[in-house]
Amino acid sequence: MSLPAQIEIDLRPPKIAIIGSGIIGATIAHRLSKSDMEITLFEKDARPNGASVRNFGLIWISGRRGGEELRLALESRKIWSEVSSEIPGISFSENGSLTLLTSEAEIDLANEAINSDPSNSRRLAVITPNEVESKYKVTLVSSVKAAIECELDAVVDPNHAVIAILEDLSKTPNVTVRSSTQVASIAERIVKTVHGDHEEFDVVIVATGTAGIELISPYGLPENIGISTTSLAMASTHAATFSLAPTIADSDSLRYYPFFQPFVSKHLSDQDPLPLRHGAQLLARQLTDGTIILGDSHYYDQPTRFKVDIEIVDHFRAKLGSLLNADIPSLESVWTGSYTRTLDPIRPYVAHPVADGILYVTAAGGMGMTLSWAIADEVKSWIQARPRQ
Ligand SMILES: Cc1cc2nc3c(=O)[nH]c(=O)nc-3n(C[C@H](O)[C@H](O)[C@H](O)COP(=O)(O)OP(=O)(O)OC[C@H]3O[C@@H](n4cnc5c(N)ncnc54)[C@H](O)[C@@H]3O)c2cc1C
Repeated sequence: MSLPAQIEIDLRPPKIAIIGSGIIGATIAHRLSKSDMEITLFEKDARPNGASVRNFGLIWISGRRGGEELRLALESRKIWSEVSSEIPGISFSENGSLTLLTSEAEIDLANEAINSDPSNSRRLAVITPNEVESKYKVTLVSSVKAAIECELDAVVDPNHAVIAILEDLSKTPNVTVRSSTQVASIAERIVKTVHGDHEEFDVVIVATGTAGIELISPYGLPENIGISTTSLAMASTHAATFSLAPTIADSDSLRYYPFFQPFVSKHLSDQDPLPLRHGAQLLARQLTDGTIILGDSHYYDQPTRFKVDIEIVDHFRAKLGSLLNADIPSLESVWTGSYTRTLDPIRPYVAHPVADGILYVTAAGGMGMTLSWAIADEVKSWIQARPRQ
């Protein structure tokens, strides 16, 4: 009698390496930590230092492009809200936003855009200055004729949300966070660090933001995957004596958010030269310590730009003061940040398997904070669907 051939079943938990502990790497690690996987998160610096700690913390729904971008943003916002009780340090707040409109043309543009989506899934409404005042306790100057309200827009703490997620992960037995450990190469799923140690993993996720491209360059990316880098300049003020609950945007933001963009040429004339020079819109939000963060300008052709032009941050501060008729405190700091951005108008980020078991996840552009949890869930599904080797 011949015995049946032995079938070997691999019962050890899958080993996953995640390189980069920005918001993309951290949220992927957090979603995977709820499974039976063993996760090692590599971060080259003592703590994340990229776009994920240099941003506005806006969980921004209002201007999202219909389709995948909006679907992922709504899904991710829901998860931000759910995890906020588990990880209170992310300071999620459903503060809403107001885009201030100063002309009939801007109001027409807003109404036409809103009417173009009968389901109004972004929950937008054009409201009057009186409604702004009674609902948000924000007094506007008389030149502001109306505001686009988005009740779904929310915020997290831009400096600490990712740190809070990492702190939560450090309490999780199946997650190892290796800070100050730069990964030097990932060939054949063997992760080598600059310290000389190496380890083989079942899956390697590369979430290195604008850095770490040397890990991917041995494989290259297909021509149909276009990624570019954008630099931004931002500023924060000293603490204000007044409180500003909602996020404020000026009407220049209609020119930059894809939901409104198709209606711009019909309704708006050219942008003023100064914000145009800096690819700028005013965005302003207050942190819990009273400081106000101001931005943002976009430099598409200067990925390593470090300079902040004072004329543009002065413009942001003056514009906010003129719209709210308030004394905006002096500037306390200015900084730059950069992100990678996909050139694909349909898929709002890149998740590309560069080699067997190696997934490159990047290029969520100015939406990385907003989309992160939904991206993490898609990456988790990709890992779970992968056959064991
Ligand atoms: C000024 C500014 C404002 C923004 N505002 C918003 C906003 O309000 N809302 C929003 O949704 N999005 C916003 N964004 C976009 C968002 O911040 C980014 O899309 C997101 O943070 C990108 O996250 P990431 O994890 O891919 O990259 P990063 O945050 O850059 O993280 C990558 C990490 O990988 C590490 N790393 C790199 N190479 C290696 C290596 N070889 N080994 C180990 N570790 C490595 C880096 O040290 C870094 O910590 C803004 C971006 C900027 C710059």
